[in-house]
Amino acid sequence: MSNEKQRPGDETEPGTKQTGENTCPRCAGTGSFEGKPCPECKGTGSVTVIVGDA
Ligand SMILES: [Zn+2]
Repeated sequence: MSNEKQRPGDETEPGTKQTGENTCPRCAGTGSFEGKPCPECKGTGSVTVIVGDA
């Protein structure tokens, strides 16, 4: 997905959905789940959530 309106240093465009980083609830931010990379956050420990579409 590319966003042609995206400008460097400007993460949030007016009119786009507001998103935020949240600690992954499945792995509690560790990035691993049952000894494997967490499928929920893909091993990053955080998930992007939509907070609302302003
Ligand atoms: Zn996770």
